[in-house]
Amino acid sequence: SRKWKTNYTSINLGDDVYIGGKEKTIIAGPCSIESEDQAESIAEHLSQQGIKIMRGGVFKPRSSPYAFRGLGLEGMKLFHNACKKRGIKIITEVMQASQIEELYPYIDIFQVGARNSQNYNLLDALGESDKPVMIKRGISGSIDELLYSAEYVFSAGNEDIILCERGIRTFETSYRNTFDINAIQVLKDKTHLPVLADPSHGVGIRDYVPGIALAAIVAGADGVIYEVHPSPERALSDGQQTLNFQESEALIQKIKVLEKL
Ligand code: PEP
Ligand code: MN
Repeated sequence: SRKWKTNYTSINLGDDVYIGGKEKTIIAGPCSIESEDQAESIAEHLSQQGIKIMRGGVFKPRSSPYAFRGLGLEGMKLFHNACKKRGIKIITEVMQASQIEELYPYIDIFQVGARNSQNYNLLDALGESDKPVMIKRGISGSIDELLYSAEYVFSAGNEDIILCERGIRTFETSYRNTFDINAIQVLKDKTHLPVLADPSHGVGIRDYVPGIALAAIVAGADGVIYEVHPSPERALSDGQQTLNFQESEALIQKIKVLEKL
């Protein structure tokens, strides 16, 4: 809470990469790591755009057990190789406490997904880690519930926490989730933690992703995390909300313009 700490937290990932602070953070990458070629081409796209953090799932929480569930640790290794040679930091989702140790050597930030944001055993275990944790808001999670999830990590000893608004489930069916722009303002008001917006899951429709990303920045988000793929129509997960390289580049340029305002 900002009652406890008045100045905003900035998380240092090393090599002059920070989340929270003056510069807006851009994190991009595929929903899932699918192959060496895919990971390499996306890392190269980010590198050319000056993006310092790549996202990508290797353990995927899919609604259907028959959908692609990720390449696991093998995928993690090729993700790591693609990023390491380009000096790019890595965020990936950890789905259970036993994966913390196996992912640890390859990653810079642990992502707690929306479905796991109230997995208190996982949050306790991440609290004992010395790597930053990004917690996504639950699919039907209130803002207070997200803050309590952060308290779990914090009270177990880890203060490097990032909050992420990724849309919530409402009665509206015109899009996948309702991105809660209000949450950005509330979280920045109530907490000292960096707040990121995930417009990809937040709206779930490719054409709407850039607009929501920019709106979140204007509302005060510390940055965005979005999905990008060399050919979204062939992606093994979430292609419908994934930008191609051209769209990604256009969004990055617009964020840079906003940042100067
Ligand atoms: C993801 O980031 O690919 C993901 C599964 O997100 P969420 O947990 O927000 O659904
Ligand atoms: Mn996804």
